[in-house]
Amino acid sequence: MRIDPHAHSAVSDGTDSPADLMRAAAAAGLDVVGLTDHDTVRGWAEAEAAVAATGVALLRGAELSCQARGITVHLLSYLHDPADADLAREMERARTSRDVRAREMVERLGADYPITWEMVEDQLAEGATVGRPHIADALVAAGVMPDRGTSFDTVLSVRGPYYVPYRSPDAVVAVEMVRAAGGVPVMAHPRASVRGRVVADAVVAQMAEAGLAALEIDHRDHTDGAMRELAGLAARLGLARTGSSDYHGDGKPNVLGEHTTAPPVLEMIEDQGFLPVVRP
Ligand code: AMP
Ligand code: ZN
Ligand code: FE
Ligand code: FE
Repeated sequence: MRIDPHAHSAVSDGTDSPADLMRAAAAAGLDVVGLTDHDTVRGWAEAEAAVAATGVALLRGAELSCQARGITVHLLSYLHDPADADLAREMERARTSRDVRAREMVERLGADYPITWEMVEDQLAEGATVGRPHIADALVAAGVMPDRGTSFDTVLSVRGPYYVPYRSPDAVVAVEMVRAAGGVPVMAHPRASVRGRVVADAVVAQMAEAGLAALEIDHRDHTDGAMRELAGLAARLGLARTGSSDYHGDGKPNVLGEHTTAPPVLEMIEDQGFLPVVRP
């Protein structure tokens, strides 16, 4: 069983449509793929419709934007009830705040580079959650930058003058909200320090106390040392271990199945989740 529980579609900042993601998962030899777009479940229906034809089971999820004292935290929510009003409202708020923030970043960038909000909209699927990758795509389309990676390393960096933060819920509160919605919360890439500051172990402990189920340990943004430390932390806090590709289509080098999750962990997630895994 090959299980890759964290991937993005063009409903957020991946480049494959949800159906294309399911086909890519089949081509990569996966048995189960998790669709976890940023702050939205809008891709679920299209991915579900592709389960039978592709033979790949679908783990329905979302990657929630959160923060702990201003440090960005990504929380994966699996198999929650999409009709839960509190969680749906929180995701809607994050999307709105991301939109305001992206426009502000483009405004700042526009002072120094030939880029407009319309050019970013051209890179964005209808109703998709906007993020810095779309601004990167607009910069690439305009010939300002060679690719997404270079854009992130330069003008889109958290440490640069064009970066604008956005409003997102506290990570511990988000864990509680996911559980209240029948979802299974898993902390995404807890030590991805290449992206910016990461939270202290004490914050992870508070999240565990609030109902966190697992840590995403096996991830390309973690060094071997970080993975070893996280394995120790997960053991101390009684948390399970997941691994994933965090695939974004052509938008990042991440390859489907490059890291995977053990079958008993998927079983645990399904046992605790409100929704089932959609199987062929
Ligand atoms: P945002 O959520 O708008 O702050 O943008 C962060 C998103 O950009 C995350 O989903 C990352 O997967 C993606 N990202 C971060 N660094 C890079 C990079 N170097 N190249 C492409 N995508 C990236
Ligand atoms: Zn992303
Ligand atoms: Fe993430
Ligand atoms: Fe992700």
